[in-house]
Amino acid sequence: MEVIINNTKLSLIQGDITNQATDAIVNAANPSLMGGGGVDGAIHRAGGPAILEECKQIVSRQGRLPTGKTVITTGGNLKARYVIHTVGPIWRGGSRNEAELLKSAYWECLKIATANKLTSISFPSISTGAYGYPVSEAARIALRTVVSFLKEQATSLKEVAFVLFDSRTYEGYYSALQEIIGGSNT
Ligand code: ADP
Repeated sequence: MEVIINNTKLSLIQGDITNQATDAIVNAANPSLMGGGGVDGAIHRAGGPAILEECKQIVSRQGRLPTGKTVITTGGNLKARYVIHTVGPIWRGGSRNEAELLKSAYWECLKIATANKLTSISFPSISTGAYGYPVSEAARIALRTVVSFLKEQATSLKEVAFVLFDSRTYEGYYSALQEIIGGSNT
């Protein structure tokens, strides 16, 4: 499924984000930036050691990455030139500022991509794996944040893709996007 917002294509794809050829792919990292399971592990495996090397240098300079913030590294052996690492919130029932922090994670990725004049970016479903965020709520926040950014901010981005690993997550994002755009294509 795809829609156009202010000259930028927003698309939903089911697949493996490590195969994406966008300028950047986003990693749902943890604050240590030392890799982990899920999409984080997959990105480090596919991208090779150059990504971890750069992450180590960043952590030695600035410490752990706070939730909702981002850093950008090489994409190593990936098709994507860059990996944007962000940390989503751990779901603790919804009253611990999770929604704001999840929004910040997406917004900061779009900001750093724009600052680096990137034209395309792929996101996974941040926080809905090991971090336990319910997919339908996370999808609404993810898509609303991207739509607001594209409507409000001048950006180099021509393409924003969500690459969703399993069909249940894809369906959650599909329903949320239909609800948000209300059947229109603007
Ligand atoms: P978090 O800790 O932020 O919850 P996870 O990596 O555990 O991150 O899960 C986030 C989402 O990424 C889940 O929907 C998971 O199925 C998905 N995922 C796992 N591997 C990949 C991959 N290679 N490409 C895209 N999405 C993936």
